[in-house]
Amino acid sequence: MTTPDHRIATLTGIQPTGELHLGNYAGAIRPLARLAADERRDVYVFVADLHALNGHPAPAVLADRTQRLAAALLACGLDRPNVHVYRQSRVPAIARLAALLSPVTSKGLMNRAHAYKAAVAANAEAGRDQDHGINMGLYGYPVLMAADILGLDADEVPVGADQAQHLEIAVDLAQQFARTYGGEVLRAPRALITEEVATLPGLDGHKMSKSYGNTIPLMAEPDVTKATIRRIVTDSTPPEQPKDPDACTVVALLRAFADDATVHEVEARYRAGGIGYGETKALLADVVERHVSPLRHRYQQSRAEPAALDERLVEGERLAGRRADQVLARAMTAMGL
Ligand code: ATP
Ligand code: MG
Repeated sequence: MTTPDHRIATLTGIQPTGELHLGNYAGAIRPLARLAADERRDVYVFVADLHALNGHPAPAVLADRTQRLAAALLACGLDRPNVHVYRQSRVPAIARLAALLSPVTSKGLMNRAHAYKAAVAANAEAGRDQDHGINMGLYGYPVLMAADILGLDADEVPVGADQAQHLEIAVDLAQQFARTYGGEVLRAPRALITEEVATLPGLDGHKMSKSYGNTIPLMAEPDVTKATIRRIVTDSTPPEQPKDPDACTVVALLRAFADDATVHEVEARYRAGGIGYGETKALLADVVERHVSPLRHRYQQSRAEPAALDERLVEGERLAGRRADQVLARAMTAMGL
């Protein structure tokens, strides 16, 4: 399907469920910005506002988070002519395609999806009914996600290890659709695993995640970031004693933002002894601030000009909508609608 003049369509979405954190940036946004630097790619990035509804956010909160996330994405190196940022809810063909995919989705496949299984496991642990608090949005989440991907005719979807299963489900549904209605309708995408991207740990050493409350926000003011970094949990080894750099959350974060020479020097000083966690944390705060300050500057500018941001999103929605309308039309025709 890839001809020399075929542009590669790369797709990614992020939920507006809280403030972006360093893990989102280093694990998803920065690698995406690198892919977008290749002019042969068209990069589609959406704010997954429909997915966010599953958590029942207050309407004003959801609207605000959606605008912030869109502004942040553009500020993080994605403000390029070949990047199209859009709100999922403003491309109606996606939700319509999700409705068409439901009949070819087996319930058993949904039973095995990670997000649902995790919610069931949490209920079991708490001694509640297994489906307590689980809505159809969460249960059917992979169907909407498949529509996000298949609806944009995506060639490749960059995924972190924590998201790989969702892409597999999208490929499964494309194949199931092909078995039922023919193979020329939905394009099965490939996963793009960005190898060198490590999962960033959060303040408590576990994976940095909004739902674990252990994040370091990306766009916070420098003194807030500094204070948050000081809260990273470390052990009680005194400064003069040798330490294992691979066991330290601060070093893991430093690796994502500092240059190699700085990282190597810190690692050597850990092994030799003579560096305290306070010093490494101060260094991390400096390195992060140097990296983030131009992004924050652009973000604040964009927040101050909501009309310009909106215009940019509407343009993204027009392009994504045109693409998704074509896929939807193909699917409807194939299904006899
Ligand atoms: P939630 O707790 O709601 O799942 P999250 O903080 O894990 O939120 P997501 O919205 O699930 O963030 O993820 C957005 C993107 O950021 C995904 O591509 C995901 O792979 C990436 N990502 C999330 N957390 C990390 C992390 N700690 N390290 C690297 N990448 C991450
Ligand atoms: Mg997550």
